[in-house]
Amino acid sequence: MRLHAFIRHTRELSQKLSHALLPVTCAHCSVPLWGDPIPFFCQPCWNTIHTLSGPKCPRCNLPFASPFALQHNPQHYCHSCRTRPPAFSQAWTPYPYQSPLKEAIGLLKYYGKISLADPLTRLMINTLKAIPPIDLIMPVPLHATRLRTREYNQALLLAHRLSAHIDIPLNYRTLIRTRETTPQTGLSRHDRLKNLRRCFAVTSPQAITEKNILLIDDVFTTGTTVNECAKTLRKAGSGNVYVVTLARIL
Ligand SMILES: [Zn+2]
Ligand SMILES: [Zn+2]
Repeated sequence: MRLHAFIRHTRELSQKLSHALLPVTCAHCSVPLWGDPIPFFCQPCWNTIHTLSGPKCPRCNLPFASPFALQHNPQHYCHSCRTRPPAFSQAWTPYPYQSPLKEAIGLLKYYGKISLADPLTRLMINTLKAIPPIDLIMPVPLHATRLRTREYNQALLLAHRLSAHIDIPLNYRTLIRTRETTPQTGLSRHDRLKNLRRCFAVTSPQAITEKNILLIDDVFTTGTTVNECAKTLRKAGSGNVYVVTLARIL
């Protein structure tokens, strides 16, 4: 613990020093930052990050347009979950993918700002209280080629911290991405499915047999990616698969 405090203190000191030499501004509102606790964001901007409120699909967490959607039946699923039940048992997507969270995820994912992994993980911790008992935490994997160019998997950074927080083992080797895929954004449902078909695999099924798994990703777009992961895990013999993603594209 003492070493931890020392490392934190040194990190804060070096952060303050570098800010004094090279002023950093808030990625959202551009005010200069002086020792703000969240890297790259001022506290007032960070405080505007709020969870999605109102009724949501109990399976995939899609927010319903009508505030009365669940009045008659609290188990009322959205159209997509009714017509094509997902392979995961339940998904939670606590925040809307909006500024300034959107910028924070972008900085973590594409600009190497790994120091944002801690505050972003803290945003997800409350959601974990809703999840049934699990045996393993897994990140949505990146393909080895993309991992080489990006050097890290942002979903693993979050999963690793969440696993330490709730003391559940992290497994980032068993579920792998076997094919490099083009980004899902802008593709039709048909093309998204085609793009992801058979692109995930389980390396050692015995590691996940009958295990209840929590799958972690940063952004939930249509759910196709996490659903393909869940399908692959279930086919390989896992127990229930639950999903937590930080932000949902609405
Ligand atoms: Zn700001
Ligand atoms: Zn749904």
